[in-house]
Amino acid sequence: MSKRVGKRLIIPIFIPHQGCPHRCIFCQQKTIANLSENLSAPDDIRNTIELAISSKRFVNQKGKEVAFYGGTFTSLPAAFMIRMLGSVRPYVEKGIIQSIRLSTRPDSLSEDKLDILETFGVSTVELGVQSMNDKVLRLSNRGHTSRDTIHAVNSLKERGLRVGIQLMPGLPGDSQEVFMDTVDRVVGLNPDMARLYPTLVIKGTKLAQWYKEGKYTPMRIKDTVNLCKEACMRLEASGIPVIRIGLMSSPSLLRKGEIIAGPWHPSLGFLVRSAIHLERVRPYLPPMGEAKHIILRAPKGEIPLIMGYKRSGMRHIETITGAMIKDIVPDDSIPSGEVAFKIL
Ligand code: SF4
Repeated sequence: MSKRVGKRLIIPIFIPHQGCPHRCIFCQQKTIANLSENLSAPDDIRNTIELAISSKRFVNQKGKEVAFYGGTFTSLPAAFMIRMLGSVRPYVEKGIIQSIRLSTRPDSLSEDKLDILETFGVSTVELGVQSMNDKVLRLSNRGHTSRDTIHAVNSLKERGLRVGIQLMPGLPGDSQEVFMDTVDRVVGLNPDMARLYPTLVIKGTKLAQWYKEGKYTPMRIKDTVNLCKEACMRLEASGIPVIRIGLMSSPSLLRKGEIIAGPWHPSLGFLVRSAIHLERVRPYLPPMGEAKHIILRAPKGEIPLIMGYKRSGMRHIETITGAMIKDIVPDDSIPSGEVAFKIL
């Protein structure tokens, strides 16, 4: 199934664990991606693209992209990579698909594999960086170091490829300080985009075993929202857009018992965006005790962020101002990121 991301239409091709040199302790791609969507044979790839092309919304969408997710693409044998990318090439040549993206590990980008990506016109490579702390990487059995990440980002940039960085707060050995240090180091690498996937304990993983044995404690949802908020603000202040926060709710992930523990929330990204917005508008709110009842005015598109998930944003504003919000009125004359209030 194709997905709209920003102004692009993504046609995802899932290759769960293919090319992975081993299993990282937190990972269960077959649950995350939906086994039924494991599509790596050229015919499967063509069928998936054809199905997307036949959908109504495909016609009017400008940026159409095929994305290989869920494994270590560049650790696959060269012939296999060429077969998969070769199935997409005719669509790129005809202008039906505008770009190709894929995800891989930072330690699997040899020059010959990079040559293949360049030859087939891959435009974006997303690196599963997870952390820039070598102890965290070691505990997670990642099998690579932060040096590999630095090298990978530089190699991709030298080839003119766009670079995405995926980070996982809350891995074993991680903490708020350690993760924000990771974020600072990622800012220093200046990737084109980032994704935040807070660590979940998924059935069938080594992490699930550690959790059951009391060796691992996952982050709480409240701390996760705060940490992702700080990370997002720091990355985006440096011009690095955060394009995803939290795993997609695939049917297999949501199946009862698959997520054993951890900060799962179906709208984690919205919780974080709302928390960021509330911090931005805070200076425009009345100080504590100044008013008993207020009416807020805000740009129409920002009202959901102010209201928050199940009105939690409104409750937060009422707590920090001591004023009950009687109404929120849409007003596009208010600058973005601000609110105005009227005391009743
Ligand atoms: S995290 Fe990436 S490299 Fe590790 S097992 Fe999962 S898909 Fe493979």
